[in-house]
Amino acid sequence: MPEQRTDWLTGRTVIVAENRALRPNEFEADRNISRAASACPFCPGNESLTPPPEYEQFDDRGRWRVRVVPNKFPALNNPVATGGPPVAAAAEPAAATCNLAIGAHEVIIESARHIDRTSALTALELRHVLETYAERLRHWRNDGRLAYGLVFKNQGPRAGASIAHLHSQLVALPAVPSAVEAELHRAKHAFDEKHSCAYCRMLEQERTERARIVLDRDGYVAFCPFASLQPHEVWLLPANHEPSFERAASVDTLSRLADVLHDVIARLESIVPAGSFNLLLRTAPWKIDCDTWFHWRIELLPRVNSIAGLEMATGIYINPVAPERAALQLRSL
Ligand SMILES: [Zn+2]
Ligand SMILES: [Zn+2]
Repeated sequence: MPEQRTDWLTGRTVIVAENRALRPNEFEADRNISRAASACPFCPGNESLTPPPEYEQFDDRGRWRVRVVPNKFPALNNPVATGGPPVAAAAEPAAATCNLAIGAHEVIIESARHIDRTSALTALELRHVLETYAERLRHWRNDGRLAYGLVFKNQGPRAGASIAHLHSQLVALPAVPSAVEAELHRAKHAFDEKHSCAYCRMLEQERTERARIVLDRDGYVAFCPFASLQPHEVWLLPANHEPSFERAASVDTLSRLADVLHDVIARLESIVPAGSFNLLLRTAPWKIDCDTWFHWRIELLPRVNSIAGLEMATGIYINPVAPERAALQLRSL
């Protein structure tokens, strides 16, 4: 069973999930050609290769168009199966704590078509995917036992995808991870100092300077952040203050978001080798009242350089492309 271990000295948290090593990896087996649709566990006709769905969206003809299944190789133990919140099993005076890693881990199959790029979806199809993100985040928030939900996508072999067929993942955790907590702490502090949302102020500054803006339309702003970790990193935020993605989600907001996000991702995919990137959806935690000082966002992190010693030791990244140049390039596509 996956275990969550925290080292008190470094504050590092790791989930030890040896079952994950059993995952199939199409990219390793055959780096250039992903497996045929006939053998793909995410393609229609092969539904028996995944656990039963927890949620499905259907088209007019009753065929599924988005499908959510529990991860077959979960990094977390389902709270329904294990019966509740994490057990504290700290082995004092050892320098570490070890809990059962409890939470949800789901796979969101984004299309019934065997495609491997987000830009191969239409903007409408991307809206259906975003609706599914909102639906599943609301589901786990309402469950009441979990504190934090993250939706992410690893697209392409360089971003950690093990199956080519377009999919995202959702994890819901019983506690806010320490890296997220550190940002929340800074955001709250910044709000207290100036009595306004720090993310709104950042947007205001980006919109004034314009040098790092990629797109600014339909209520969303996409820009290359001032301290981008990777070349062509893009953040996308709602232009008006909005703490929670899933609470703000409606047909109207998600239609506009799908349109802008589709545009940004298509631009990124045309630049980034093999279209490899990570998408992170950072929405408000569920048990902290941060409505005035947190602002949700999507981060798009192209995977160009691999993460190596310096990054692992210090958290300091070296980015060879200035975000101003990256934004200019993305704007002009
Ligand atoms: Zn497939
Ligand atoms: Zn804000």
